[in-house]
Amino acid sequence: MHDNASDDRYDLLVVGSANADLVIGVERRPAPGETVLGSDLAVHPGGKGANQALAAARLGARTALLARVGDDDHGRLLLESQRAAGVDTGGVLVGGAPTGVALITVDPSGDNSIVVSPGANGRLTPEDVRAAAPLLAAARVISVQLEIPLDTVAETVRGRGPDTRLVLNPSPPAPLPGEVLAACDPLVVNEHEARYILGENAGEGPHDWAPALLALGPRSVVITLGAAGALVADSRTGSLDHLVSPKVEAVDTTGAGDAFTAALAWRLGRGDDLREAAAFAVRVGAAAVTARGAQESFPTLEGVDAL
Ligand code: ADP
Repeated sequence: MHDNASDDRYDLLVVGSANADLVIGVERRPAPGETVLGSDLAVHPGGKGANQALAAARLGARTALLARVGDDDHGRLLLESQRAAGVDTGGVLVGGAPTGVALITVDPSGDNSIVVSPGANGRLTPEDVRAAAPLLAAARVISVQLEIPLDTVAETVRGRGPDTRLVLNPSPPAPLPGEVLAACDPLVVNEHEARYILGENAGEGPHDWAPALLALGPRSVVITLGAAGALVADSRTGSLDHLVSPKVEAVDTTGAGDAFTAALAWRLGRGDDLREAAAFAVRVGAAAVTARGAQESFPTLEGVDAL
């Protein structure tokens, strides 16, 4: 399947989720027991793993995705969208359960209600990761999130090559084993995830959170701050830098964190230091909020330069 493992390495391997986002616009979200009529159904490829892989490929990264989808139309939609963006989908496994879906109702004010069925994402197993060892070995950087089983994340951490860098975005947040935290370089969190991980010890704000997160074991930490950009802390240099986001007209922030993390991971794989990579990633995140949707909003390199 991966006969090119001995060629140039992948800039980025994403091990993560792939979902179909099923979206219906409603005047009012239904109360318990209530039925409301909504707009025509819109189906979008999504899931944090698929989002990150597509975001990186659109920027020009040599990207591969290790994921699981169902043998169904949603799975085919995801495979097609990844391939169209240039992602190597040889590592995407098919079958075992329906493709993961997110059922989304969104009202005119933009507030939404979401039900996620992990489906095939929940069947991506540690064994699947072991079977993909050549793919893991062929990646400069591996990016993982938490929309797949935690055992599978831990196996990815263990199976990575000795010089493969690991980027983890713990979303949706969950308790993390020490071995996973210690492998992160960086741990990428938004404000909500930082507070979840730190709990009562969170401290006042991001400048307190960064050292507190480093104390849990990761070699570096990036905290994304929405319109305020990102904070970068590196245990090797002891540095703490605030990267300011360009001012943009925010239309839809869906997927901004995924675009940010993908851009960061790619640039780390190309040899940027963490500060340089994060400075690029805040520009990619900012570009992603200027357009509607998640994957549809991810910029090309030209789009980032045009900011
Ligand atoms: P998440 O989407 O995971 O909650 P953030 O909201 O922190 O993450 O956004 C991630 C990145 O996207 C930010 O670091 C920033 O670069 C960019 N971004 C998000 N919202 C805005 C905004 N309103 N203006 C400019 N950039 C933004």
